[in-house]
Amino acid sequence: MSSRGRGLLFVVSAPSGAGKTTLVERLVERTPNLKMSRSYTSRAARQGETDGVDYNFVTRERFEAMVAAGAFLEWADLFGNLYGTSAADTERILESGSDVVLVIDVQGARQVRRRGAETTAIFVMPPSFDVLEQRLRGRSKDSEEAIQRRLHVARQEVAAFAEYDFLVINDELAAAVERLRSIVLAERARLKCMRAAAESIVETFS
Ligand code: 5GP
Repeated sequence: MSSRGRGLLFVVSAPSGAGKTTLVERLVERTPNLKMSRSYTSRAARQGETDGVDYNFVTRERFEAMVAAGAFLEWADLFGNLYGTSAADTERILESGSDVVLVIDVQGARQVRRRGAETTAIFVMPPSFDVLEQRLRGRSKDSEEAIQRRLHVARQEVAAFAEYDFLVINDELAAAVERLRSIVLAERARLKCMRAAAESIVETFS
């Protein structure tokens, strides 16, 4: 948590299969006062996924009603499913003083930026296209068609890296987690976050 009270908002994007969820889970485990936002999605839960843990799984109708009600900070249609970040959930965490990390796609990150939210945006890249392809094939029971679709989207997504503030190459998990963590810690050390703490220290000098 920053000593200015309100938490900081981090955005992490990466092509599907670049390992961002694992990376961010490790980051959050190792970093006090940093919470991962739980997205809403209209897609069906995969085996091993739990409602209210991995995502808030909702029907497409419920999701669309939330869009109409302006409930999302950002949302996107990806691979035919809807994904979104609740504005109220995010606000609640930030207000409580914890920092929040949104793991969202490139379109979602653009929406957050367009809303003028103050964020630190981090792009995670796989070391190469071939590595991404191997990871996608290795991890999933996706059909060849689904893999090709993800690779096609990945080609477009990597081109968006220059819209982000920081870049992390996920070559080796532990090292990549450390690089992500160093970004969070550096943001927390910014003067705007440390001013109140600094002022109270300065007072002890008088
Ligand atoms: P998956 O279905 O594999 O869990 O996620 C597919 C994609 O949706 C990933 O690239 C993931 O980052 C993205 N995603 C997950 N939650 C959200 C969200 O709340 N907003 C947006 N824009 N993308 C999301």
